Amino acid sequence: MRLEKGKIIVQKYGGTSVGTVERIKEVAHRIAVRKKEADAIVVVVSAMGKETDRLIALAREMADIPNQREQDMLLASGEQVSSALLAMALNEKGVKARSFLSFQLPIITDERHTAALIKDINVEKLLRSFQEGEVAVVAGFQGITPAGEITTLGRGGSDTTAVALAAALNADFCEIYTDVEGVYTCDPQVHGAARKLKRISYESMMELAGLGAKVLHNRCVELARKYNVKILVRSSFNNEGGTWVCGEDEEMEGALISGVTYSREEAKISLMGVPDKPGIASLIFIPLAEMGINVDMIIQNIGRQNAADVTFTVPEDELEKALQVVGNVAKEIGAEEVHYDRNIAKVSIVGGGMRSNPGVASRMFQVLAREGINIMMISTSEIKISCIIDSRYTELAVRVLHDAFELGRA
Ligand code: ADP
Ligand code: ASP
Ligand code: MG
Repeated sequence: MRLEKGKIIVQKYGGTSVGTVERIKEVAHRIAVRKKEADAIVVVVSAMGKETDRLIALAREMADIPNQREQDMLLASGEQVSSALLAMALNEKGVKARSFLSFQLPIITDERHTAALIKDINVEKLLRSFQEGEVAVVAGFQGITPAGEITTLGRGGSDTTAVALAAALNADFCEIYTDVEGVYTCDPQVHGAARKLKRISYESMMELAGLGAKVLHNRCVELARKYNVKILVRSSFNNEGGTWVCGEDEEMEGALISGVTYSREEAKISLMGVPDKPGIASLIFIPLAEMGINVDMIIQNIGRQNAADVTFTVPEDELEKALQVVGNVAKEIGAEEVHYDRNIAKVSIVGGGMRSNPGVASRMFQVLAREGINIMMISTSEIKISCIIDSRYTELAVRVLHDAFELGRA
């Protein structure tokens, strides 16, 4: 069976959308209605509600640094439950449906446990399922290595499963159903003045997602751009039109700033009194890279008496691992002390218009200063400025920046 372009619908429902038995029944109802207008429907689901958080907390009770292979075995169970329940709910409605775990298709990934990349997808079984008139329900977030090991794609990774399937099945677009009505100028749960965008380019969305706007997994936006899959982000709680994530076109708003984002999922590590001589930075950062730890911002203060302080940020869930590595390095190079801080947040403003408008950064610093918010670290690129601040001020910072750059107004 071959599908013509546009004949297939790919939908993804996130955790809140399938958070309870009632919600799953409602989602089944939505799918039953859509089934009437499509040749074939694939539905990707996340784990129910906060199930993945619960499983991670269990793993942390077992070990400070859980074995990554075993963590993936554990986390993949969340999506197994929701996919089977949704298929049951559809069957109850008289809609033929079959659930699939990713090893059954399979969805092949590389070996990077907890942050695996999709390498290949076999859609044969899905096509057979369509031929049988079934809705195919696929467990999101999980994959399998060529050697048969279960992997997961990183937090929020079900979005990526959905877009990868849309690309593999030649679908025109991929519908992402969530608990907000689309992509906004900032997290609508943090600021009531957030404005829903009708469209956003892949580039801007990649930047927003990469800097913490978890409405879409950043890998999914990258894949969508690569395979030219349009994404429609909308709510599973109503029928409002959502946000299109697509290539740039003339209807795009040429805004100076497209959004404000935040991430509390980072931690800061400082090595104090590091000998100030060539080669030291590589001694610190090569072992971190070898452990697969992503270092984000780095600053070095020139200190006293040929010593410097080096401060950098890492994903908070890799802090323990990073501290282990840094502890060893500190001894090796003769650093005086290691400090760390979990209670930080990264607040960023993003927008293509920044390129041609000097003064955005200074305005951002001014706005934060006016609120008495101290900036610990700064990093900039052509289209974003990020500041590390005390996490207590995250919401306040998002709101004042959003208002200062007048993002609430169309
Ligand atoms: P799902 O479980 O459906 O995948 P997520 O919690 O992963 O949902 O993502 C949706 C959440 O993303 C929203 O509830 C919202 O709080 C948050 N969010 C952060 N930034 C934005 C933004 N710019 N636009 C929309 N939602 C955002
Ligand atoms: N259940 C996974 C998570 O919570 C994947 C997802 O929701 O997309 O991260
Ligand atoms: Mg999500």
